[in-house]
Amino acid sequence: MNFRYEMPTSIYFGRNVIRDNADVFHRAGKKALLVTGQSSAKKNGSLQDIIWSLEKKGVTYVLFDEVEENPSLETIERGATIGSRENADFIIGIGGGSPMDAAKAIAVFIQNPSVTKETIFKQGSLSALPVIAVATTAGTGSEVTPYSIVTVNAEKTKKNLGQRVFPVAAFLDSKYTEALPVDITVNTAVDAFTHLVEGYLNTNSNQMSDLYAEEGFALFASCFPKLLQQQFDASFREAVLYASMLAGMVIAQTGTSLPHGMGYALTYHKGLSHGAANGILTSEYLKIFKNQTKLERMLSLLKLESIQKLEEILKRLMPVKVLITEQEIEAYASAFLANKAKRKNHPEEIGLEEILQIYKNSLLGFRSFSI
Ligand code: NAP
Ligand code: ZN
Repeated sequence: MNFRYEMPTSIYFGRNVIRDNADVFHRAGKKALLVTGQSSAKKNGSLQDIIWSLEKKGVTYVLFDEVEENPSLETIERGATIGSRENADFIIGIGGGSPMDAAKAIAVFIQNPSVTKETIFKQGSLSALPVIAVATTAGTGSEVTPYSIVTVNAEKTKKNLGQRVFPVAAFLDSKYTEALPVDITVNTAVDAFTHLVEGYLNTNSNQMSDLYAEEGFALFASCFPKLLQQQFDASFREAVLYASMLAGMVIAQTGTSLPHGMGYALTYHKGLSHGAANGILTSEYLKIFKNQTKLERMLSLLKLESIQKLEEILKRLMPVKVLITEQEIEAYASAFLANKAKRKNHPEEIGLEEILQIYKNSLLGFRSFSI
């Protein structure tokens, strides 16, 4: 046995964990920049609970509530300008992956005032202000990963910021996810599932990451039927949030691989949600995977007989239509081949032919291909 395992984030999971652990905020700093999307944090009670805890402990704050889905570097710079001007000494990201990732990037920009959106990808490793993450989707697992995925309009794609910012603390209370609409519930759950898949079948997987991934697959054996029946009761919400957190802990060790790297183009150019973009590619990805040992173990934990059964589930969950041309697919495939980091995480030889095959069969398979 030989592995490295890193998880420096303190995790608070359960009902009312924010109000019950107000001390955490007091220990993180004196003035918080709260980073949220435009409306959900105000509606689902998470922002209110944070403000209650900050006020209880005499921690002041300023709110930046402009984060869009798939946050752009432009928005992140705006948030950093406000945080610097207001002398924030820690950041609280509240929401789905978009505000949590934006919070991490803002924490880097505030700590390094000379870094800009033009220079960030050329920097070595940078420090960041402390970040606390509150997850309100289940989800990205961003609350327990060091990654920040940002939209780079200058390059017409999404990319990892390239800095490692593990939140100092993560709060997961499934009550905030109870009002999630059906489509976001499904797409974010599928995202969590793809993290388990790509982390489990990964060059960097190890005993610890596999332990969490296998627990995650076992949870999805009961979450998939509930997703199909839209039976979103409190026990489902808690189980899928837990599975999403475990999946985050997996990719924190391993990174993601082909579906994520290939899905970014479908989000940037075709507007697919992050979860749908990965989910649509996953069954074809699994079909080209040669080593059957882990695949079989995964299917048995999912209580599924074959990849085809999984494919049926994913197709029913995501009846997505994408209008796309062969030329677009070829352009995305060539761009992806240049993404060495994601390819490196895939443990088998892979070339342009396989990438094209995954894109074409996935999009054809969803009856959405048009020339
Ligand atoms: P999201 O983009 O954060 O949010 C999607 C939508 O859900 C928004 O309209 C948001 O509204 C709404 N929403 C969030 N929480 C809600 C709640 N509790 N109730 C009702 N609506 C709610 O979605 P996401 O899928 O969680 O995050 C996707 C982003 O995370 C992508 O950019 C992806 O690349 C990134 N990601 C990061 C990692 C990582 O490790 N860092 C891993 C995977 C994915 P508001 O805008 O009003 O809040
Ligand atoms: Zn993801």
